[in-house]
Amino acid sequence: MGLPACAGMTPPAVPEMPAGVPSPEVSISIPLPVGVLDQVGQWVFDFQLRNSHESKNKVYAKLVDETLQRVVTAAKRGEYAEAAKKFNWKVKVVQDNSINALAFPGGGVIVYTGLLEQVGKHTDQLGAVLGHEVVHALARHFEQRMSKELHENLVKSVEDTNWTTEGFSPEVAAGLLVALGAREISTILPVVRDQESQADHIGVELAAEGGYDPRGAIDFWKSQPPHASGGMLATHPSDAERIQKLENWLPDAFKLYEAAKDSGASASIR
Ligand SMILES: [Zn+2]
Repeated sequence: MGLPACAGMTPPAVPEMPAGVPSPEVSISIPLPVGVLDQVGQWVFDFQLRNSHESKNKVYAKLVDETLQRVVTAAKRGEYAEAAKKFNWKVKVVQDNSINALAFPGGGVIVYTGLLEQVGKHTDQLGAVLGHEVVHALARHFEQRMSKELHENLVKSVEDTNWTTEGFSPEVAAGLLVALGAREISTILPVVRDQESQADHIGVELAAEGGYDPRGAIDFWKSQPPHASGGMLATHPSDAERIQKLENWLPDAFKLYEAAKDSGASASIR
């Protein structure tokens, strides 16, 4: 889609956040059209890339490309097949020590070198993380992560026939960056538990169908340093409840993994 840079607008460079801090209690009275949500996702993806250093590491590029493809291929057969087929999937690696990955509605995906360095050869863990993030994007979870004010603002904006993502005020842009996980704020975001469970559950199944051992998800969360709080852990606490649920889903995910292996899928990266 290639939305242009926000010409004439002050870039929302790590702004103050009062208007954008999401609240889990937001009730959405007028949902935004999915086309708008996907356009917003594309805008945040472009914004984030413009403000990052893209990695030149070809091994990483190949790795994330293959992993995303496997997960997305599985998603095209699942609950979110319609969105998975419609999204324009592309993945970029950003040079940044954060242990993080982001997937945006519309199909843009960013993986940080910090995550790739941590998972190393454990590609099953990368499959798990991308499976999880892809579900957030496909389900357009970020709409519920917006503050009430931000959501109302966007609804009003799109009612304007000349609506365009270029017209975002810095406050709206900043709120969207937070809602999509592209900006950390000093307070830990309230984790929307249902969304997290859904992303974990469907994500581990997509990874398994893509040929990634579902135990990789549990290994990933268990491997996080106990007091780490940046990157994914700012919004994704690695707690006992998350790991317990993943263990409960393991038998079913393992069947999908075995079937994927039988059909010739292999997650090993050459
Ligand atoms: Zn999540």
